[in-house]
Amino acid sequence: MKKILIVGGVAGGATAAARLRRLSEDDQIIMFERDEYISFANCGLPYYIGNVIKDRDDLLVQTVEGMSERFNLDIRNFSEVVDINRAEKTVTVKKVKTGDTYQESYDVLILSPGAKPIFPPIDGIKEASNLFVLRNIPDTDAIYRFIETKKPKTAVVVGGGFIGVEMAENLTERGIKVTLVEKLPQVLAPLDFEMAQIVHHELNAHGIDLVLGDGLLSFANNGRTINLESGKSVETELIILSIGVVPENTLAKKADLLVGPRGHIAVTSKLEALDLNTNQVVEGIYAIGDAIQVKDFVTNTDTAIALAWPANRQGRIVADIIHGADLQYNGSMGTSVLKVFNLTVATTGNNQRVAEMKKIPVQAIHAHRNNHASYYPGATNIDFKLVYNPETLEILGAQAIGQSGTEKRIDVIATAIKLKAKVTQLSDLELAYAPPFSSAKDPVNILGYIAENVVAGHYKVAYVQQVEDLRKQGALFLDVRTPIEFETGSIPGAFNLEVDQLRQNLHLLGESKDTPIVVNCQVGLRAYVAIMMLKNLGYTNLYNLSGGYSTYKAYKYELNSSSIGLTKSNKVDETTGMTKGILSDKSKIVDVSGLQCPGPLMETYKAVQDLYEGEGVKVIATDPGFAADVQAWTKTNGHELLSLNLEGNKYVAEIVKGKKTTQEHSTMSQENATIVLFSGELDKALASMIIAQGAAAQGKKVSIFFTFWGLNALRKDMNVPTKKNLIERMFGFMMPRGANKLPLSSMNMLGIGPKMIKGLMKHKNVDQLPIMIKNAQDLGIKFIACQMSMDLMGIKHEELIDGVEIGGVGTYIANNENVGTTLFI
Ligand SMILES: Cc1cc2nc3c(=O)[nH]c(=O)nc-3n(C[C@H](O)[C@H](O)[C@H](O)COP(=O)(O)OP(=O)(O)OC[C@H]3O[C@@H](n4cnc5c(N)ncnc54)[C@H](O)[C@@H]3O)c2cc1C
Repeated sequence: MKKILIVGGVAGGATAAARLRRLSEDDQIIMFERDEYISFANCGLPYYIGNVIKDRDDLLVQTVEGMSERFNLDIRNFSEVVDINRAEKTVTVKKVKTGDTYQESYDVLILSPGAKPIFPPIDGIKEASNLFVLRNIPDTDAIYRFIETKKPKTAVVVGGGFIGVEMAENLTERGIKVTLVEKLPQVLAPLDFEMAQIVHHELNAHGIDLVLGDGLLSFANNGRTINLESGKSVETELIILSIGVVPENTLAKKADLLVGPRGHIAVTSKLEALDLNTNQVVEGIYAIGDAIQVKDFVTNTDTAIALAWPANRQGRIVADIIHGADLQYNGSMGTSVLKVFNLTVATTGNNQRVAEMKKIPVQAIHAHRNNHASYYPGATNIDFKLVYNPETLEILGAQAIGQSGTEKRIDVIATAIKLKAKVTQLSDLELAYAPPFSSAKDPVNILGYIAENVVAGHYKVAYVQQVEDLRKQGALFLDVRTPIEFETGSIPGAFNLEVDQLRQNLHLLGESKDTPIVVNCQVGLRAYVAIMMLKNLGYTNLYNLSGGYSTYKAYKYELNSSSIGLTKSNKVDETTGMTKGILSDKSKIVDVSGLQCPGPLMETYKAVQDLYEGEGVKVIATDPGFAADVQAWTKTNGHELLSLNLEGNKYVAEIVKGKKTTQEHSTMSQENATIVLFSGELDKALASMIIAQGAAAQGKKVSIFFTFWGLNALRKDMNVPTKKNLIERMFGFMMPRGANKLPLSSMNMLGIGPKMIKGLMKHKNVDQLPIMIKNAQDLGIKFIACQMSMDLMGIKHEELIDGVEIGGVGTYIANNENVGTTLFI
């Protein structure tokens, strides 16, 4: 029989206690906890504050009574261990409520005292009565009470680590306007910068202001003012200080146990504590959890990882070791996952920045893949970054940001790392697949394929951070996306030549085949196709821009620029301090879930048109673009956006019709739009209709001038008897008859391409072209068919769909008056 004492009764301590009892009924086990609660859900605390977890009791995983009874433990809460006498093998325990102390002897002592929030001795911190840290239930209660009683409308979260970001989200959920201040240039240090930028966008989009690269200097005005190192100051009603944790090492230091450079208790792989002077194992003392120093599993360097998995794993292992098992703790990788509003952010192992700091050779690759088959409804994108050692092919770490299925991919990679797989083995993992869950090539496999290509030397990888340097070295930037994609944004100075046009236009790349060419597409796949083609044609200096334009765009994101803010209404209820439920039950509800752009905005437009001034409508949409669109639309059209919230995965907007009607606004703005459609290709005709409807919904008067091949989109799909000469009849026979017959500008594949696109549109609830044309006409968009082109091509008026005006350049010019935008497609 052993007498085992445990210091700390939450993650590590409680796990060790339960395991010890399961291994032996004989041992005497006493667990000391200085607070009231044991085994509570630390990880759930922010969500209780955010009212996501409604019942406080749900945080209490185990009670003292319940756990004592089940495991026959002697659990002493409100009992702080204040000293260890190693020679006598005793500890001194202070009863927190009375201050009385007593001794307790041990055969084995397990330390699991955790970590405590950093509380820097800066000016004004003690006087800041609105400042809180979050570690345990009393901290949680204090924050909760403050919000309930003081009803703060503003908060500053200092520190952008896991807890800071979770608190920023949960305070936002409570209707509080949050500013997050972080000394580093990014939040969430396990991410590399270009990945963190995706999180910055998400935080901004939900109304959180970010102040990055600026440290805390002092507090003034009892915490109502926060002064920053840059000289800026922020006014606030509530402060959450979450700038990191330090290990609880007071006891260990007092007992002359060895601690590492950052104060963590040093342990052997068997979790035994060491003597400060001799570095020898101290017989009978073990340490686990946030308080200890561990080995980085990947790099075998010393580190400290304050996460629940290591604490739980060590809690179990230490019990087994005490009972003679030949086990060891193999180190931590810091595998983690976090919810940031609509995103899941997951990481494992080292990121590129850390690997480079440790002087490890590192190769990074990016990918953007759907979480499941794109043709199955509801597919969402996941952004990936994987880093590996190009010399040993050892996987160093991975980062992923997306929605459902994100952490599953990181877990697979974490498993591969633990089992020492090489990066090239990722492509060989046979992973579960059916359309609602994945693709036959899972994103993890794709990362393996990309790595294989790089390892095989098919191309060099350029990182978005290297764009400027490569430009200075005279590199040519070749963007192989379609012109429409290119126009929505591109790398400055890049040259657009669609992948399908590349072979025929090689002369545009210049004479030398040795010039560095950095090829990009949206995500890297078409760039890869282009690169392999160029390589086989003798080009020697080819780079694939890792992650393509998607990663470049994320990298270049300008902070606080996406104030599309899913901010809740500024109409705050005086008594509760929370946002009001604004529209009455009788309000109209328009559910456009499943519709994709421009559908949701079109339906909103129609719904608002049917209202009287001052009446409201509630629109529910799932298209992520809706949040930005509806804000811009209501603003331009003089309507009031009372609230915009994310409820589950649905965006819910409450809109009240404003005084200005669309028509008035349009006349006032004098900004009308004309589109000249001369292309007879499905994708281009679709783009015209989407842009035209978007402009009409913004209150612009829109006309589309159909000329040359563009006229085909207006032809009726049936054969209309007309008087034509032979040439006109032949022309009419060869040209596509109507919107349903248009080919694609690329990937037409003898008509298979358009069928595939139409199938996809159907699955994704995007209207087909004929319906878009009808909707555009219903919105009052004027269709003008060019008389001259009709004459040339032998197209007769009766062949065209109803509602089309025939006109010449005069009609076009007349409609072009007051035009702010003219597009040629
Ligand atoms: C708000 C929050 C959210 C978190 N979210 C996550 C998450 O989502 N995922 C994740 O992996 N991790 C998360 N963590 C981290 C995770 O909770 C910790 O890594 C884990 O609890 C560490 O376990 P531990 O046993 O080392 O310390 P703890 O669980 O903190 O337990 C230590 C206990 O020891 C007690 N103690 C200290 N000194 C003494 C003494 N001298 N005498 C008696 N008792 C003492 C303390 O009061 C404390 O209760 C979160 C932590 C917090 C605070």
